[in-house]
Amino acid sequence: MSAASFDLIIIGGGSGGLAGAFRAAAHGARVALLEPGALGGTCVNVGCVPKKAMWLAAELAHKSALARQLGFDLPEHPALDWIEFIADRQRYIENIHASYRRRLDAAGIALLPQRGRLAAADTVECADGVRLRAPRILLATGGHTVRPAIPGAGHGIDSNGFFALCAAPERVAIVGAGYVAVELAGVLQALGSRVELFVRGQRLLESFDGELVAQLAEDYRQQGIHAHFGHALAAVERDGDGRVRLRDAAGVLTEPFDTLIFATGRRPNGDHLGLDEAGVARDARGFVVVDAQQRTSVPGIHAVGDLTPQLPLTPVAIATARRLMDRLFGGQPEAKVDLADVATVVFSHPPIGKVGLGEAEARARFGDEVHVHTTNFRPMLHALADSPQRSLFKLVCVGEERRVVGIHLLGEGADEMLQGFAVALKRGITLQDLHDTVAIHPTSAEEVVLMR
Ligand code: FAD
Ligand code: NDP
Repeated sequence: MSAASFDLIIIGGGSGGLAGAFRAAAHGARVALLEPGALGGTCVNVGCVPKKAMWLAAELAHKSALARQLGFDLPEHPALDWIEFIADRQRYIENIHASYRRRLDAAGIALLPQRGRLAAADTVECADGVRLRAPRILLATGGHTVRPAIPGAGHGIDSNGFFALCAAPERVAIVGAGYVAVELAGVLQALGSRVELFVRGQRLLESFDGELVAQLAEDYRQQGIHAHFGHALAAVERDGDGRVRLRDAAGVLTEPFDTLIFATGRRPNGDHLGLDEAGVARDARGFVVVDAQQRTSVPGIHAVGDLTPQLPLTPVAIATARRLMDRLFGGQPEAKVDLADVATVVFSHPPIGKVGLGEAEARARFGDEVHVHTTNFRPMLHALADSPQRSLFKLVCVGEERRVVGIHLLGEGADEMLQGFAVALKRGITLQDLHDTVAIHPTSAEEVVLMR
């Protein structure tokens, strides 16, 4: 049987794969896209989108408490009807699926609901044995959650399991201190659970500014989230009533929890893809090695997104896939994404974000030339309601001209504020440029341009 041929075959219909498919088709390429699951991958189905929906619900819960404090006639703990909210969330997601399907049809992209694997450098074999051929192949299979290899780990759920919850469990243990742990802890606590975080290190969010994270940890403490630092998890045990307890390396058992969530990181989906047989190089952690133009070690085979060691964020997967297609099919031979200074936000309560260098990174690189400017204030709504939540902003500047190399924001609105300042940082602005920009008053954002 001869293989159907295309200009491009994409394995994986998540953030990177879909973005690549649409851009390649817009340049006139004949594209086949293999996706056995729901269109949109992790981000749309069990990541950014349902997470942001839950975060918005949690924000409304926080705002209701402030509103009550300010005289609105609301119950002390307004209850969320999870079933109704989840129906709204899933309807939103189904609309995204429908929109993708319409766009794939309109672009003439062949969508095959199949797993794929490399059979050769120019051939992909579908799960049913059908072979497709193309001179270009894009690998965009993303990643999956991992949990510690300890007895009883199966008694917990992961972030996928969190999105299947239909009610706030009464008592929740979350293991981990990264993006997912911090985001889910904030959401569940706001929506009625009592959350405890079990952290093997000494702090949350290792890759974010230490001072801002300490402030966030204090905010979480005030919200009722209890963090156990230096916790060496050794086993999980299940009681007769189905609740679970965590045992540490010293044998100490916790109180029982209704739900245990492992937020202990992700690994690339690189197995069963035929990578080794095709000669596609992977690093020690299993990520597909790519150069700055998304080439793998095999000519004609490219990779984007969480399968690669690049930052595991949706906009990175999308941007790299689009630029790759501009290069392969759009007559732009030099096209690539500048992955320096990518802005990122953790949707905690309040959110924390960063772009550019951290203070320690800047000091390691520029030594005494580093100047740090901070501001710590109570946003107006919190001051009005006499809530203790504060915002903490930090600028990391370098040299006599005070070039801004890092912007770190913790506080209400930080998630929406950071994008515009990220543009400015990438354009190489100085502290003086910020001072030369007349403030918008009264906002939290004005504190960034007024920082001394
Ligand atoms: P994915 O989106 O995971 O897509 C990969 C696709 O490949 C999947 O649909 C899978 O079914 C398919 N696939 C796998 N193997 C095969 C095969 N053999 N054949 C065919 N198809 C295959 N990022 C942000 O920027 N902002 C956020 O707020 C954010 N929140 C997140 C929250 C959570 C809980 C999680 C887990 C992640 C979050 N992320 C967020 C990260 C973001 O979801 C990922 O970086 C992004 O989805 C990666 O895109 P991708 O295309 O590489 O992979
Ligand atoms: P992270 O890598 O951010 O965090 C994993 C956490 O699990 C770390 O705190 C790690 O601790 C801890 N951990 C790992 N193994 C164990 C163990 N055996 N026992 C106890 N703790 C352990 O992974 P996430 O899954 O939270 O997020 C993955 C990526 O997805 C993020 O890096 C981010 O890029 C993306 N994402 C983005 C979001 C956003 O943009 N808002 C939201 C969610 C995810 P240690 O530090 O000690 O290794």
